[in-house]
Amino acid sequence: MHLNLKNTFTNLPADPEKENYRRQVLKACYSYVTPKKTAKPSILHVSDEMLESLGISKAESQSDEFRDLFTGNSNYPDSTPFAMCYGGHQFGQWAGQLGDGRAINLFEVEYNNKLWAVQLKGAGETPYSRSADGLAVLRSSIREYLCSEAMFHLGIPTTRALSLGLSGDEVLRDVMYNGNSAYEKGAIVCRAAESFVRFGNFEILAANQDHDTLKELTDYVIQQFYPHLGAPSKEIYLAFFKEVAERSMEMVLGWQRVGFVHGVMNTDNMSILGLTIDYGPYGWLEGYDFGWTPNTTDSQFKRYRYGTQGEIVGWNLFKLANAIYPLIGEAEGLQDALEDYKDTYVQRYNKMMLEKLGLSLSFEEENAFIQQLEKVLHKTETDMTIFFRLLSNIQKENFQIPLTVVKDAFYAFDDMSEEVKKQWNDWFDKYLERLDLEQDSDQDRKEKMKKVNPKYVLRNYMAQIAIDEADKGNYDMIEEFYQLLKRPYEEQPENEKWFAKRPDWARNKVGCSMLSCSS
Ligand code: AMP
Ligand code: MG
Repeated sequence: MHLNLKNTFTNLPADPEKENYRRQVLKACYSYVTPKKTAKPSILHVSDEMLESLGISKAESQSDEFRDLFTGNSNYPDSTPFAMCYGGHQFGQWAGQLGDGRAINLFEVEYNNKLWAVQLKGAGETPYSRSADGLAVLRSSIREYLCSEAMFHLGIPTTRALSLGLSGDEVLRDVMYNGNSAYEKGAIVCRAAESFVRFGNFEILAANQDHDTLKELTDYVIQQFYPHLGAPSKEIYLAFFKEVAERSMEMVLGWQRVGFVHGVMNTDNMSILGLTIDYGPYGWLEGYDFGWTPNTTDSQFKRYRYGTQGEIVGWNLFKLANAIYPLIGEAEGLQDALEDYKDTYVQRYNKMMLEKLGLSLSFEEENAFIQQLEKVLHKTETDMTIFFRLLSNIQKENFQIPLTVVKDAFYAFDDMSEEVKKQWNDWFDKYLERLDLEQDSDQDRKEKMKKVNPKYVLRNYMAQIAIDEADKGNYDMIEEFYQLLKRPYEEQPENEKWFAKRPDWARNKVGCSMLSCSS
């Protein structure tokens, strides 16, 4: 297996200490560290697309060499694995140094003119592991592996996954933090992205008042990933910030569009490239509910609930602005950019919602019209994915009562009160009025709507089925969902069974609607 290594990140200042023990790291962006050898490594799944992206053949992916490399059991020649140093605001509070506690970067690969940073998640302790073990378990690794690839196919910026492996070691976890620890299978995901740099990489340097390294890191990120902005200077730092804001907005609008709830939007989980990163206790909306969060750790304040994700990105950008402020020395431009984010977000959100509804014309009362829909969607439990997909079947000359077209999206349609039915019919009246003003034929609108309203997402109970089967040693569901979610917007008649509301057994099952950070 030949990989075209190209080091870029490791040209930044390294921690001189080579021993692997927990510590505070100063004046450096990363520490060298080698993955831990594991008892009996095996590869459960590989992403054929990521193989191709990295220039690895299918045959090579079946070799012992591949298995050992991507489970951390061998070192690629001339590579120097490392863990990144970053800090972060967790649930609104500055948490100090965090860093790659269970991720180890193997190397960067350049292939077809594209740079990929390749890292293992769950490959053992690093200087940043704090009180934890640096390991990952199978359930959360399956969730990250499947969801990051699914997100890519939904057209939402994300880190990718190359492989999912078992370490052969057992890992102790207390799933619901209630004192019931148990051993689980250890797993390792190899993930890849243009870069894994986070807002937190900047924040830790600013917090340590290490402005020299902060400048080096910022200049590196601009030159490597935002080269079109031009040579770094005060103006360019501001332009860089604006583009990070723009990309982050693009990402979160994507989440809102498909009903993805990240669950832990701490600043250490915010990519500087606007990629969805760190798939932990994330979830997918079943009932359309602004107040929903999958993360039990956040159940009290619901800081990271579906309805606030856009706002939280703004809050996180504010923390990034503070971190790079020393390079600019003037707050005004950054403040304007943050204000701009807030205003633009509302406009772009409405535009995105109109697109979901198949409406191309903006109109004065669009905000009220969208809110009216959101309000009535909250009144009864309504499956988001199914609702918007079925809505594409509405016809201008409505031969059918519109509400019956989307009937299957409701969990208890027959119990719907007359009052709520009336609210639906009022909204549909307006919707039909808007449709009348549009040029598109029913068929054209339907095709457009199907490109923004996925038919298949990784429903929470689906991930759990893949996990339960994998626990029994059957990995077929991983492959089934991997293939299914490669074409989320397409009709797949053979897979119609996954276009279905959450079954009753999944309603209150751990892993299906409730997840903790214990991965
Ligand atoms: P997360 O919110 O899962 O992205 O993780 C927050 C921080 O905790 C990061 O610095 C992680 O590297 C660290 N962390 C989470 N789980 C572990 C673990 N099992 N071992 C070491 N560090 C961990
Ligand atoms: Mg993280």
